Amino acid sequence: MFYRTAEGIYRCSLLDEPGCFEHGFGARHAAHWRPEPLATLRQIHSDHWVVADGRPGCLGQGDALISDHPGLFLGIRTADCVPILIADPVRKAVAAVHAGWRGAARAIVAKVVQAMQERFQSRPEDLLVALGPAICGQCYEVGPEVARLFEPWAPGISQAGMSVRLDLSAICRRQLCAAGVRPERIAVSGLCTKCMPDEFFSYRRGDRGGRMLSAIARRA
Ligand SMILES: [Zn+2]
Repeated sequence: MFYRTAEGIYRCSLLDEPGCFEHGFGARHAAHWRPEPLATLRQIHSDHWVVADGRPGCLGQGDALISDHPGLFLGIRTADCVPILIADPVRKAVAAVHAGWRGAARAIVAKVVQAMQERFQSRPEDLLVALGPAICGQCYEVGPEVARLFEPWAPGISQAGMSVRLDLSAICRRQLCAAGVRPERIAVSGLCTKCMPDEFFSYRRGDRGGRMLSAIARRA
């Protein structure tokens, strides 16, 4: 369901299908890719979301943007954390979410689904969700104090005093399902930023400065 374009960005056919959205997940060879007009945030690994009302540029601090403004791209930057793009083809609303372990532990993606319900009357069962390239469950080891935070969505994951492998995309997927999103309307890329150095930047692999933009817009 994910494919690579000639310019080196990744797309998900699930988000293409309704024909009223534009989107892309940035990659290493598309560092120049920057759709305009673009709204972004100063990302702080929180569960805060911000409504983009049409103004481009940096809209403040937070880790998710939601909007129903035609033509405005919502962008977030990642390198290992999970970039999540959400589209509501009924209410014509979109969201871009940055979910690292801190955001995922606070269920940021579920809070964004709720925010879209409140703000745009989006129904969770109408939403289409794509989880883009992120560090995979084999590559991502976390300590017991972090693992413990994910017990609600992965019962038994934390074992006393042990490091464990955490699949952040799987956690986010469970949170989406629990929020009422239909499983068949969620696509997980399966593309690992750490396993695929030719394609993606990875913070854990040592690309300290490299970040990839992921963005979505409702078509004007
Ligand atoms: Zn991996």
